[in-house]
Amino acid sequence: MHNNTLKQLSVLLQSKQVSSTELATHYLARVKASNLNAFLHVDEALTLAQAAAADARIAEGSAGPLAGIPIAHKDIFVTRDWRSTAGSKMLGNYTSPFDATVVSKFAQAGMVTLGKLNCDEFAMGSSNENSAFGAVRNPWDKLAVPGGSSGGSAAAVAARLAPAATGTDTGGSIRQPAAFCGITGIKPTYGRVSRFGMIAFASSLDQGGPMAQTAEDCALLLNDMTGFDERDSTSLTAEQGNVREDYTRELATPLKGLRIGLPKEYFGEGLAADVEQAVRAALDEFVKLGATLVDISLPRTALSIPAYYIIAPAEASSNLSRFDGVRYGHRAEKYTNLNDMYKKSRAEGFGPEVQRRIMVGTYVLCHGYYDAYYVQAQKIRRMIADDFKAALGSVCDVIMGPVAPTVAWDLGAKSNDPVANYLADIYTLSTSLAGLPGMSVPCGFGQGEKNSKRPVGLQIIGNYFGEAKLLGIAHQYQQVTDWHTRAPSDI
Ligand code: GLN
Repeated sequence: MHNNTLKQLSVLLQSKQVSSTELATHYLARVKASNLNAFLHVDEALTLAQAAAADARIAEGSAGPLAGIPIAHKDIFVTRDWRSTAGSKMLGNYTSPFDATVVSKFAQAGMVTLGKLNCDEFAMGSSNENSAFGAVRNPWDKLAVPGGSSGGSAAAVAARLAPAATGTDTGGSIRQPAAFCGITGIKPTYGRVSRFGMIAFASSLDQGGPMAQTAEDCALLLNDMTGFDERDSTSLTAEQGNVREDYTRELATPLKGLRIGLPKEYFGEGLAADVEQAVRAALDEFVKLGATLVDISLPRTALSIPAYYIIAPAEASSNLSRFDGVRYGHRAEKYTNLNDMYKKSRAEGFGPEVQRRIMVGTYVLCHGYYDAYYVQAQKIRRMIADDFKAALGSVCDVIMGPVAPTVAWDLGAKSNDPVANYLADIYTLSTSLAGLPGMSVPCGFGQGEKNSKRPVGLQIIGNYFGEAKLLGIAHQYQQVTDWHTRAPSDI
């Protein structure tokens, strides 16, 4: 049952070969049996009540294609019925009075919430080891990290604990864990998906997106996930191009004549041989499908790391100032005065990576350094966007390369070295800085410890609003390869 894609489950549900209640029961049992630490909160009674409601809708004949299908949400999306912690002790006991727009959109579509998924604290990280609730394990190899920050989402879909999950991507957090766990994920154009109720990390970069087994499933999910939201001030309006569209419309489009740009900076020093081999093999498949490969350059790629690690912490330091122990979140038990209460509540509530970023962010925004760091980083951000502009459209239609320089690393291998973690984001950060859509598609396996196999992801980057095109390209690839159908044996 759990190896079915969302698309297949939809057919089974609509033709009444399976009920939503049966599905929810099945997946809840798998969640219970799993020891990946992917789920932070489950509430079986609540899930089953939603499933019963979905069954009633399907029986009435008024249900859409996603009705009755279980989905799990990254714990960065707030929910009324489940706790919302953002992977932080600061919000350890927090329950939101409202649902995030993404959560309510999927609920309106009749999807059934399976629970909330582990993630790096406030989405800061690349390995899920920054969660206050413990690391998530990679289902392909339990000695490996699942990637981050949407590590719980990726591990849950890969281990078939859920047919779909939500994730968020600020600098790679959908694409990189999708790659490390061998699933498909897409980060839409910035502003496509509402950030309302998505606990903020870096507001000019944060973007929600779907994670599932296939590109087709991601397209179906995006159909209900995107759209203008007046409660999000950076949500793109219909006039700006954020119109309701059918993201499945290009799934059948042949790839003949497609020009694929290969940035030389994505295939240079630092790229592991096993990852390169899998990515090149995928490119060969695209050539067989009629595409042509074009060498391009994104000269400012290396600058994306310093630019991102100035801009993201700057925004984080501002966003996280709301956690002062007064309004909501953790408050220290003992303090002498108001200032002491702030200090102790924040020192106790935030983990080391979050504290590090608040300090870096505050530093680069302070009077004497603002021009030297923050303004410089913003200028570089524009240049990075210009690099993409010069390539996309005129020289190539899409860009392809690896998602990450290596396969998933061992748990603990980089946990004391923040810079080593930051460097692993080299191929994903620039897409986020430019606000472009990008996706990760499983394309093979590399080598882990003790002969284990660890998945490799192919990255596909498109132009603004190019999601349907990316999904179509990925779907065509998934028609001639079977990497996306592979599932780990252990949960
Ligand atoms: N790894 C990056 C970071 O730590 C990206 C995280 C994300 O996309 N949320 O900031």
